[in-house]
Amino acid sequence: MKYSFGLLILIWLALSPGLDAQIAQPIASAITVQADFEGGNVEVVQLDQAMQRLRVMPALREGRGWPCWWSMRVDGLKPGTDLTLEVQAQTRPYRDKSILAHTWCQPQHAWISDDEGMTWSPSPRGTLNSDKQMVYNIPVTRSELRIAWGPPFVTTDAEALLQHIADRVADSQRFELSKTRGGRSVNGIRVGQENAPNQVWVNARQHAWEAGGSHVGRGFMEWIISDAPAAQALRANTCIYFIPIMDVDNVALGAGGKDAQPRDHNRDWADDAIYPEVAAAQKMIRSIHERHGLDAYIDLHNPAPKDPVFFFGPFGFAELPDVTRKKYQHCIELAAKNIREPVAVVPEYRFATYVTTEEERGRMSSGWVRNNLGDHGISVTLETGWNNSAMSVAGYGSIGAGLGRSLAEYLSE
Ligand SMILES: [Zn+2]
Repeated sequence: MKYSFGLLILIWLALSPGLDAQIAQPIASAITVQADFEGGNVEVVQLDQAMQRLRVMPALREGRGWPCWWSMRVDGLKPGTDLTLEVQAQTRPYRDKSILAHTWCQPQHAWISDDEGMTWSPSPRGTLNSDKQMVYNIPVTRSELRIAWGPPFVTTDAEALLQHIADRVADSQRFELSKTRGGRSVNGIRVGQENAPNQVWVNARQHAWEAGGSHVGRGFMEWIISDAPAAQALRANTCIYFIPIMDVDNVALGAGGKDAQPRDHNRDWADDAIYPEVAAAQKMIRSIHERHGLDAYIDLHNPAPKDPVFFFGPFGFAELPDVTRKKYQHCIELAAKNIREPVAVVPEYRFATYVTTEEERGRMSSGWVRNNLGDHGISVTLETGWNNSAMSVAGYGSIGAGLGRSLAEYLSE
């Protein structure tokens, strides 16, 4: 029998447990951090292998808006110990000389999945240190953890949701709203008869980082297709168009989207829209309105770190014609009655007064829709506060269900 030199070496290695352990051990225990998946985003600042201490910041995606969202996979952790995760602001400007404030990337709780992104739960509450790093002590329940700013919602989740709706509701139709500039599909679904007396449009993620908006949208649609008598009654006379993710490109890249160059999706509702999905939404909404009259447009967002759950209403609310103002007022009253859990919605409208010119207000989707609706229908933005351990997938879902009940009540009158 003739052994090759390589084989002899292998046999010698196998018979030498001391040496084998020396070679294998550091490799097996090395912590690695990755974001090479849909919606992944991380820039590692420091990694102390021995102390299991990791400092990160959201990676900058040039021209693609705020560096606030982060989502990563950490491998090689020691179960039964703690991972110390420090999150700091991105140090480079995202636009001109603007550096994003640290608070946007520092939720009170990081969100953890130890089942490869299937389920997410909040970490123990983080503490801000004197260097403006948010420090989370994360119990390691598995050698591989997914850790993110919030429960992610990416195109794969959107596809699963749209298919679930299509499978459950006979009277539904999936559609491609458009392809993005990056060649990705922006998909939506219509639920209910195309010629139904009531017409509704709901979209989320005009700002890519605001994953909670999509979770609210999911809760909304799950209520809409449920067996609740009010939902069944709504479906009988209402056609609902739902787009779970508008800014598909930036969601895929884990970019923030907000304040993208030259403008973000929710400042693009002009005659010369630069995003094909915005242009397509405008075209469809115009067509729906011309044929049947659009009764409600709802744009789903997440707001600033300290914000509650609230609606942005129409500018100049107090000066609106009586009939229109009463309609909007009735809406917010129904929302206050129905959106109670896990956080009650603020029972009055807020107004996006940080947008100062009529021109810019008209390029926000809610403003553009309002300007196109005339006296018909309502157009509002739901901002769901996120900086709270109750804002889990289920928590966002409850807000969405409450939105569904509000809408059903409004349209039934
Ligand atoms: Zn937003």
